[in-house]
Formats: sequence, structure tokens, C-alpha cells
Amino acid sequence: MANTPTDLDPTVRVRFCPSPTGNPHVGLVRTALFNWAFARHHGGTLVFRIEDTDAARDSEDSYNQLLDAMRWLGFDWDEGPEVGGPHEPYRQSQRMDIYADVAAKLHEAGHAYHCYCSTEELDARREAARAAGRPSGYDGHCRELTAEQVELYVQEGRKPILRFRMPEETLVFDDLVRGTLSFDPKDVPDYGIVRANGAPLYTLVNPVDDALMGITHVLRGEDLLSSTPRQIALYRALAQIGVGNGSTPRFGHLPYVMGEGNKKLSKRDPQASLNLYRERGFIPEGLLNYLALLGWSLSEDQDRFSMAELVAAFDISKVNANPARFDLKKCEAINAEHLRALAPEDFCARLVPYLQAAGLLPAEPSAAQLELLAAVAPLTQERMVVLGEIVQMAGFLFVAPEDFAVDPDDAAKVLNADSRAVLEASVKALTELADFTPEPIQAALREALVDGLGIKPKFAFTPLRVAVTGRRVSPPLFESMELLGREETLRRLTAALELVPAS
Ligand code: GLU
Ligand code: ZN
Repeated sequence: MANTPTDLDPTVRVRFCPSPTGNPHVGLVRTALFNWAFARHHGGTLVFRIEDTDAARDSEDSYNQLLDAMRWLGFDWDEGPEVGGPHEPYRQSQRMDIYADVAAKLHEAGHAYHCYCSTEELDARREAARAAGRPSGYDGHCRELTAEQVELYVQEGRKPILRFRMPEETLVFDDLVRGTLSFDPKDVPDYGIVRANGAPLYTLVNPVDDALMGITHVLRGEDLLSSTPRQIALYRALAQIGVGNGSTPRFGHLPYVMGEGNKKLSKRDPQASLNLYRERGFIPEGLLNYLALLGWSLSEDQDRFSMAELVAAFDISKVNANPARFDLKKCEAINAEHLRALAPEDFCARLVPYLQAAGLLPAEPSAAQLELLAAVAPLTQERMVVLGEIVQMAGFLFVAPEDFAVDPDDAAKVLNADSRAVLEASVKALTELADFTPEPIQAALREALVDGLGIKPKFAFTPLRVAVTGRRVSPPLFESMELLGREETLRRLTAALELVPAS
């Protein structure tokens, strides 16, 4: 499924425009992914814009995390931070003069007006409207103030906000995901666009920048659907005052993502934090593949796909409007498939930071350490869901002998009075063994334990596994012994005798 010539449309301009608050979350990543895939599918442009006009909530740390996340995920953007572009700057905090200018023009042209109502007055009228069963949004109180009324408010020391004047007509638009939507004007009251202190609000800056940056398609979460009719009205006003190229983007609202207990996944949910997935060792290919399935699918019988396949097939009109459920087990299973598909050297290279973070490898691993990793990695690749599991799986090979410790729970479960004989017989058999490689190791241990002591293989080998690797779950036992070397294997088997309960 390659993109057909009819899909190519270099005029497509989409944007990913997060606000730098808190840590990046999976909902945000899904939005970035769909915009990126849409842009790449059509051969268009992805604009990366930072919506940091809320000084109280935005932070530099969060901004840096966003950029780092985008790079880690492998997204590229055509305009935005670090790459520049014809509409610089791409951080809204650096565009305040532009917004002040547009706000003044909207005011002058009558598309916006000063509203002097205090919060208390607004609240009281909203309550009254509610009680009377009338619409409870802004009631248009300041729409047509006379010069005298304004004078009075000014004398009272009131500072006005700037409020956008919604047209009194039904607003209809064709959502790329949800089809035709229509909004009654009584449900879309006039709304604030500039605070009393002069600070422009998201409601203004987001459509202004979309207009100035020539955005053709807005793909964003369904939580923003209620602001779309207001924004469409604002685009039209902007066109009338000559801001932007005069056209209104098309909108596509991506479905909600539901988390535990069928509640909307909130960005504050621990399960939503991108960092969590990175720390556990999800790989971008796996995580993005799974996130794409939150609303989209390549085909009914293929859950695993590459980003290239996604780009080739991506079709916004095929996005499902129904809420998608975030299923961690499925996400892990998809990641595991992507891990298995990695080339061995690639897989190995990606394991290194996890071993480093656990203190098992130094910042500059030696050639011998990398060789050991290359030897053990293929034994683990099929068994892992996330890269971080390498620490548990193969840590026993990298830990300094004096730091090696058997997992106490596993020891308690596995090492029993019979284990003494098992360990002693194993030490003897392996000491005498000429060729310390997996097959002879296995043969010698079988002979000593199964034939010699009459113990079932399962009961014979599990104590050895715990003694040598420290855990009941490990790479294959005989290979593990070989990689560890005879000396250290014997040392650990002997040391484990100390853990055997007295009979
Ligand atoms: N900065 C807005 C947000 O993060 C962007 C909304 C939009 O895509 O229009 O919610
Ligand atoms: Zn008012």
C-alpha cells in the first residue's frame, strides 16, 4: 500500500502544538503521531509550535522534555523549534506583539468588544440563568454598551477583558473523523480572547497562529471539539481583517482514549506518562505502533506495522470516532514483537543504557563487556517485553562477584533440604568437566542429578538456576553458565549451599 499520486498534496500543512505543562503523555504522542503521519503521507509540512502563553503553567523543563520526547520518538518536523522556518518564532511566548496587534484589529473591526463584567457578576448571572432553565453561558451583557456605561465602568476602576463576538448563526463543519457537525449559536456564547491584564488566551493565539502559518488541517483530541465552532468563527473574522490567507482549516477530532475502569485517560494518570514507557524500555517503534491503534488500524489482520507502513497507509477519514481503550497488555505485546524484530546489533545497542542506568555497565563499556552482552542478548531477545527487563534477566553476568546476591524470595521457594545434594553433585560434576560449553554441561548435570540422584529435571535444575543467575526466570541455564565461566559458576553454586535450610 504505497501512497498513490492522488494522495500527494504538498499544500498540506498540519501542526503539532502542545503546551509545555507537566510531563509528555501518551495522548499527546498520539496526536503528534497522527499529524506526523498525515503530513508524511501527503508529502506536506508538519509545523511544530509551542503554545506557551500561560506563564503560570508553562515551564522550560517541560519544553525541553517535549523536544527530547519528539526526538526520541523519531519524529521530524519541517518548521519549528531547532529547525526554524518562514513563520518564526514558533514559541508563542515570543509572539506577543503579533497577538496584541491582531487583538487590536479585531476590536477595532467590531469582532471583539470590551467586557467589564466582574467574575462575581458573571457567576451570579450564570446561577440565575441556570435556575431559570436558560442557557448559562455569557449573556452578551457588554455587547452593546453605550459610551456613558463604558465611562462609568472605567471610573469604577474596572479593567475589561476582550471578548469575541460570536455570529448569531448556526455553525456547520465537516469533521474529517466525525462527519458533519452543527452548533446552535445559543450553545456557543461570546468568549474571552484577552485577559484584563492584556495577556492573550489560547482561544485567540491558537487560531491566529493557524491562520498566519497557513495550517490546512487541524487534527487534535476530541476534548477540544467544543472550542472548534468558536475558532471557526474567529478564523472567518481573521479573514475579514486580512490576517492569514483567508481560509479556514479542516478539522479532524481524534477519539478519546479510555484508561482503567473505562474512565478517560487523564494526563495526570501515571499510566499516561511517556517517561514511564521510556524508563521501562518500550521502544519508539513499538509504542508508536500501539498508539496508532488508538483510533486507527492498518488492516483487520495486521496489528504490527512499521512507521513506513503507517505513513503509506494513513488515512484520516478511516479514523474511528468511537473512544479507544488503552490496553497495557496489548501495548506490551506489540512492543515485544518489535523487540523480537530488531537486528541483533541494534537490540544490543539499545540494551546498553538500561544496564548503565542500573549500574551494571560503566559509561564506557569495555570490549569484553560488550562481547558478553552480544552473547547474552540473543538468549533474551525472545523473552522480553521491554528493554529494562535485561537488568533482571542478564544482570547476573555483569554484576561484580562480591555484589551478586540470590533473590531471597526465589531462594526461599526453590532451595530446600534436597538442594544440598543437588548443589554438591553439580559442583563435583562441573569441576571434572573437560569442555565447559552448554551441551557437555547439560549432559554432565543430567547424569549427576537425574541419573545419579534420581531427581526430576525440573527439580534438579531450578535450584541451580537460582544459585547461578539469582532468579527463577533467566536466560537458558547452560548457556548462562558458559557465559559466566566455570570459576564463577562453581563459586556461586558453592555459595548457595549457605542458603540451603538445614534438614
Ligand atoms: N496547545 C493546545 C493543547 O495542548 C493545542 C490545542 C490544539 O491542537 O488546537 O491543548
Ligand atoms: Zn460583560
